[in-house]
Amino acid sequence: MRREESALFVQSVLEHYFPNPSIPLNHSDAYTLLIATVLSAQCTDKRVNAITPKLFAKGATPQAMACLPLLTIQTIIKPCGLSNSKAENIQKLSKILIEEYGAQVPKELEELKKLPGVGQKTASVVLSQAFNIPAFPVDTHIHRCAMRWGLSSGRSVKQTEEDLKSLFPKASWNKLHLQIIHFARKYCPARGHHVENCPICRTLQYRSLRGS
Ligand code: SF4
Repeated sequence: MRREESALFVQSVLEHYFPNPSIPLNHSDAYTLLIATVLSAQCTDKRVNAITPKLFAKGATPQAMACLPLLTIQTIIKPCGLSNSKAENIQKLSKILIEEYGAQVPKELEELKKLPGVGQKTASVVLSQAFNIPAFPVDTHIHRCAMRWGLSSGRSVKQTEEDLKSLFPKASWNKLHLQIIHFARKYCPARGHHVENCPICRTLQYRSLRGS
């Protein structure tokens, strides 16, 4: 099966299983989403959602966060891991937002990536989920699925993002990346998957074998 046909099939299955995918990280605006996404590096969304209410009770805006002592931020976010560097990044980026962006989160990828602790994935999450600007943030789940489904070589996260963007219409990126995350978490674990029971690979393999 051609890559484009596989992509269409995958999208139809995802639409069936997750027609209205939710945003995994709890937030109330672009700033709180940005902070939650910074915290989610090498941490589960579940754990981030457990600690952000306490953090945002003290610092839900760049101004409030910038006024918090570093130790307070570190202590609250400790369960997320890498708390020293994450706390420093959160405090620094809050100050930068105040000084350079009028305390607003920028809506441009390259501006977002200038902020400490913000890389391609975090910036794409903010564009997509906070501003509804088309982006395709590739996390470990999406990277794994794209490779398994034959939609990308899986050589690198960057390559996966480029491949997925070229395969799917821009208008579908924001929904699709959430659908893949939800599917991967529920049905496509890193280890221990069963092709014969799976609604995606079972069909992709069958069609490949038939050459259709
Ligand atoms: S068989 Fe299903 S669970 Fe396994 S890689 Fe394919 S989509 Fe994922």
